[in-house]
Amino acid sequence: MSSSSLKAIAAVIFDWAGTTVDHGSLAPVRTLQQVFAKRGIALAGEVARRDMGLAKRDHIRLLLREPEVAIRWEEIYRRQGAESDVDELYQDFVPLQLACLLDHAKVIEGVVPVVDRLRSNGVRIGGTTGYTRAMLDELQRAACAQGYAPDQSLCPEDVGTGRPHPFMCYQLAVNLKAAPLSACVKVGDTFSDIEEGRNAGMWTVGVLRTGNLIGLSEQDWCALPDQEKSAAIRNAGKAMREHGAHFIVEAVGEILPALEEIAGRVERGECPCS
Ligand SMILES: [Mg+2]
Repeated sequence: MSSSSLKAIAAVIFDWAGTTVDHGSLAPVRTLQQVFAKRGIALAGEVARRDMGLAKRDHIRLLLREPEVAIRWEEIYRRQGAESDVDELYQDFVPLQLACLLDHAKVIEGVVPVVDRLRSNGVRIGGTTGYTRAMLDELQRAACAQGYAPDQSLCPEDVGTGRPHPFMCYQLAVNLKAAPLSACVKVGDTFSDIEEGRNAGMWTVGVLRTGNLIGLSEQDWCALPDQEKSAAIRNAGKAMREHGAHFIVEAVGEILPALEEIAGRVERGECPCS
């Protein structure tokens, strides 16, 4: 493995929950489930995870339209969910999410050494999220205390809109002076991360084992029989590929070979859009 080739990469922009912290991306799922439970709706984890990665208000709006939720909502309230319901659900969501964020702020194993290695090659480190600024600030403080501190992280409200739009990535490229975009990499555990990166004209890496598609805590993952582990990785990898990920890795701790491959392609003048 030659470390010099990593220098061809201008920036790596990592997602937060499920990618660099919060193994299994559990915090947002559990909070969304609590918010809907208060309205009498049992939200399946699978449904809560479908549009994960979007700005939280956008995610709640889409959840109200999911057939499983919409049908139950009409049964209970005798009308369709409206924008005023999105507002109320979101108002419930914010304090609940803030309250449990620090319970799910552990930096995922392998992230810190990878970031150190990238930095020693001059690669800038960015972060994007679907969380709010207050949530992101809280997570950043907790992660920093564990040795993970991106050069800068942005949330949807910083740029006016979240994923799948590319604007958080664009703004980070400007702020971190990372160019060209085709020498930047977006890493994340949701389909919306991949769309965000592709829309920004960046290389994309989908994270499987620690993320939203598998959705298990580190402990629950370790307890899984080997056969189920392989099947889960296979299925998640297939889904990530189908959603356009250029590369897939089990976890950020195992990302260096993929980044070296990307660096080689950048050096050869290849573009992620081609
Ligand atoms: Mg995530």
